[in-house]
Amino acid sequence: MFFCFTFGFDNFKRRSGDRVWTCPNCSARDVYYVKNNECFTFCFIPLIPCGPTKHLYECHTCGRVNVCQPPF
Ligand SMILES: [Zn+2]
Repeated sequence: MFFCFTFGFDNFKRRSGDRVWTCPNCSARDVYYVKNNECFTFCFIPLIPCGPTKHLYECHTCGRVNVCQPPF
């Protein structure tokens, strides 16, 4: 019997909240507030979150990531 265990660290982004902003770059109303966490993973399953949680605003249309809240 052969088991393959993989473990490591990975970044996990979670969309938090329902509020949507307008992107200052592409004007799409597609900017979400996301929490970015580094997690210890085992078999691709995030087990232990570690490191600081980063909060950022990400546009799902053009991919622009901003740490500041868009003005509108
Ligand atoms: Zn955009």
